[in-house]
Amino acid sequence: MRGDAQRFVRPGIRALHGYVPGEQPRDRRYVKLNTNENPYPPSPRVIEAVRAAVIDDLRLYPDPVATELRRKAGEVYGFAPEQIIAGNGSDDLLALIVRACASAGDRVVYPMPTYSLYDTLVAIQDAEAAHVPFPADFTLPVAALRQLDGRVTFVCNPNAPSGTVTPVAVIEELARALSGLLVVDEAYVDFADATALPLVQRCPNVVVLRTFSKSFSLAGMRIGLGFGSAAVIEELNKVKDSYNLSRLSLVAATAALEDLAWMQRNVTRIRTTRAALSERLRALGLQVLPSQANFILARRPGRNMGDIQRALKEQGVLVRYFDTPDLRDALRITVGTDEECEALLVALKPLLV
Ligand code: PMP
Repeated sequence: MRGDAQRFVRPGIRALHGYVPGEQPRDRRYVKLNTNENPYPPSPRVIEAVRAAVIDDLRLYPDPVATELRRKAGEVYGFAPEQIIAGNGSDDLLALIVRACASAGDRVVYPMPTYSLYDTLVAIQDAEAAHVPFPADFTLPVAALRQLDGRVTFVCNPNAPSGTVTPVAVIEELARALSGLLVVDEAYVDFADATALPLVQRCPNVVVLRTFSKSFSLAGMRIGLGFGSAAVIEELNKVKDSYNLSRLSLVAATAALEDLAWMQRNVTRIRTTRAALSERLRALGLQVLPSQANFILARRPGRNMGDIQRALKEQGVLVRYFDTPDLRDALRITVGTDEECEALLVALKPLLV
């Protein structure tokens, strides 16, 4: 039956291992440190705005071009609305960029390890992924990325799953050297010290992506923003689904941007917890990279951490383990509340002896 069904799809899709998202368990309550969600709730203003939008108008389609959200985002980030596109999560924006820019056989370049969805999106397009390994300290391999000069180059900054950052000046140097599009995936940037957004105004080949899933505590609403030149955004708009954000998502995103203080307060708490958790993990003998995201990559070189991830799960603590050669000796741990991090440390300590 399965073999039979496969003949309906393209060979590239048959060969594809679909992206595997982190576990979202329904069966019991876990200390959930595996998918980089925010442990704190969204702004009460967001909840109120969404409640107020659950009305008869839901029978009508949403605004296809997110006019009010883009106006508000333009005001907050200093862009014209024509330079902004809204997505159903930043995953939607990543997908439409690859769809718009990479034909079969085109080269899409990124350092590894990074966000593994890029591989899936490139494969769907029958394009060619060119991976450049990061060195152990996760310095961006600029020379190799320049040399490969992809139709699209992805730089995830802060990088996932390392949490490390590349200085904006280095990203600018790369942008100026590339002939294709440079996509800076800033899903975690609100937890970091610097943003590449100003580059969008200086470099016509730079697109910066943001999400409301992490710092704004809205992973469940699926909202992302893309910033680029008006000309690039116009092209991307041709590729997107007409109604890619629901009425409720649009309302939630706009309200979230009207209460930045709420997001910033939660970011400050998470950064404080991140510093404490990093120290405690180091004290347990793990190698911890300096993280500017809301997660920490903790390593024990040469030790496969898969059994530790499973043992933590049995004790009710979920963290992320990547079963790839370059990440098997690591766990990616989302920074939760202080209490959640304490529960993780209590469970982890005896497993590391
Ligand atoms: N980029 C990176 C690096 C991520 O880790 C994620 C979350 N998995 C995303 C983009 C997508 O986020 P969302 O679709 O929730 O906006």
